Amino acid sequence: NADLAMYHAKSLGRNNFQFFNEELNKNAQHELDMEVNLRKALDQNQFVLFYQPQVNLENNEIYGAEALIRWMHPEKGIIPPAAFIPIAEETGLIIPMGEWAIRTACKENKKWQDAGYSPVMVSVNISAKQFFQSNLVEIVETALSETGLHPNYLELEITESITMDVERSIKTLLELQRIGVKVSIDDFGTGYSSLNYLKRLPIDKLKIDQSFIRECPNDINSNTLVRTIIIMAHLLKMKVIAEGVETEEQVSFLLEQGCKEAQGYFFSKPLPVSELETNYLKKRLEK
Ligand code: C2E
Ligand code: MG
Ligand code: MG
Ligand code: MG
Repeated sequence: NADLAMYHAKSLGRNNFQFFNEELNKNAQHELDMEVNLRKALDQNQFVLFYQPQVNLENNEIYGAEALIRWMHPEKGIIPPAAFIPIAEETGLIIPMGEWAIRTACKENKKWQDAGYSPVMVSVNISAKQFFQSNLVEIVETALSETGLHPNYLELEITESITMDVERSIKTLLELQRIGVKVSIDDFGTGYSSLNYLKRLPIDKLKIDQSFIRECPNDINSNTLVRTIIIMAHLLKMKVIAEGVETEEQVSFLLEQGCKEAQGYFFSKPLPVSELETNYLKKRLEK
């Protein structure tokens, strides 16, 4: 924020003003560079999807995979989404990038099915800006029809921030439900959605944020929150999955509390397609 920086700079005197000014320019320049580079990366197909297995805790089998975008930079190597999604959101590039992610996830999941693997769900992260674009439903429908993936095998992960416009989000969610796509709320518990909205939204699943799971089962308050979210999801006829599961103790705790789905490093980190296939999809077929 330029005004704020100016204010701090002035309060520190002239020399510091120069310093802040340079910092600001550097940041602005960095954003501009990033925007140009991201555009180029999209054109040159430098993005890939990694997939993190989602596991059924009762039989330890994979039932789905979350698609997580990575930028395969020709010089810098693999760049994680935290380094570019915020800029993509600010510049609007998240729209074509998100469309690419939806289409690619559908295409790859259909390919796995065509290869004869037992079908899995694929879930794709949707940023709020993307959710509120006018033609999201059309984009999803087109991706499904062009790839031939059945809608029941696609899940969209949205965040609680979409409840800032409840009426519009209900309209879009109902349309997504009508075409047969599943919807989950990602990072549940970290946003601001009121329970009143939650009741009204046609949502299939809550994803308990990893910050709560991280403290489980050693922190009593986190345990209580996790247990409460699980009970609430079930009472609202929603499914529930725990994110960021890293230990055996967390698995036992979740099972005791009636949570039947999980993902996290305990099972697997996000994998390139080829590794997902050899370590999970093929193995499952061999059983
Ligand atoms: P998310 O959707 O909440 O994804 C979970 C993040 O936690 C992933 O980070 C995943 O690698 C990481 N994770 C999974 N299991 C564990 C664990 O056991 N411990 C820990 N410490 N971390 C774990 P990643 O891949 O860096 O993605 C970060 C975020 O970027 C995602 O959070 C999502 O919000 C966003 N993102 C990723 N791909 C896309 C995309 O295609 N579109 C949009 N709009 N956002 C995306
Ligand atoms: Mg997610
Ligand atoms: Mg999450
Ligand atoms: Mg997140």
